[in-house]
Amino acid sequence: MKQLKVCVTFDVDLSDYTNDGAEVDELAFLFSEVIPELRRDERLRATWFVRLDAQVEALYGHADYFFERYEREFRALSAEGHEIGWHPHSYLKTDEGWKQNTSSESVREELERYAPRVKGYGIKSVRTGWGFHTNETMRALSDSGFLLDSSAIPRPAYSWESSRKDWETTPCEPYFPSQADYRAPGEPHLSILEVPMSVTEIAAPYDRAAVTRYINLAYHPELMKAPLAAWLERKDHLVTITHPYELMPAREAHGLLAFDLNAMRRNLSTLEELAEERGAELSFMTLSEFALMTMGVENHA
Ligand SMILES: [Zn+2]
Repeated sequence: MKQLKVCVTFDVDLSDYTNDGAEVDELAFLFSEVIPELRRDERLRATWFVRLDAQVEALYGHADYFFERYEREFRALSAEGHEIGWHPHSYLKTDEGWKQNTSSESVREELERYAPRVKGYGIKSVRTGWGFHTNETMRALSDSGFLLDSSAIPRPAYSWESSRKDWETTPCEPYFPSQADYRAPGEPHLSILEVPMSVTEIAAPYDRAAVTRYINLAYHPELMKAPLAAWLERKDHLVTITHPYELMPAREAHGLLAFDLNAMRRNLSTLEELAEERGAELSFMTLSEFALMTMGVENHA
């Protein structure tokens, strides 16, 4: 039977982006609600990107505050086959509050500063905040010895986007980034593997034109069937991305996000049905496992 390789990934940002970035205790919700829900299907394993950066240090006193506080829980998750990854959000403090740091030099410096501590936790996978990268930041992660980066959102730059990122020329398949242009494969290449988030056209009720979005299990299930089918027509792998708060009950309805844990279950059921229709079965794996498979070194000890 054909295998559909599925990497379910979560960015634990601790910020509610639909509510002006308000702080939200996603980790408490994750362990009390999301993990028990995932455990209902014993095949399910996910990759969890957790913050460790200068802003966490400024706000909580330690850059690895969350790794320390939830050390036991993360260890248990890893033992169950999940993967913990690094989600560095490089912020700058300004008079108007915290803003995305878009200085290549200073983001690179922050990544290099914390990489040894992150590696100390056995972490192999990185997804940068806002999906921000430059040639210098990608090289810093590669030179620090990380196995993979999964920050790429291959889509056009939309005028309404407020964060800085550039993946306009990026393919949907994993690739080794060119040293001269991190957005695409090319020689000579870096040793880190880029594993882009899976993107396809997903229509929100408020869209005025077609928009390419990443495939998020927290989106309203009725919006997801056609996009998932369109993706499966072309690919035999899938990298989803969700923020835990997007599954938490919310104050008000949202056109795209369901704010309902059941949405994740229903979207996964839809995925299973669509795979079956195509004679394929779902094979859940972590991003590291997928990367090693892609690189053809599955038996690498
Ligand atoms: Zn993030």
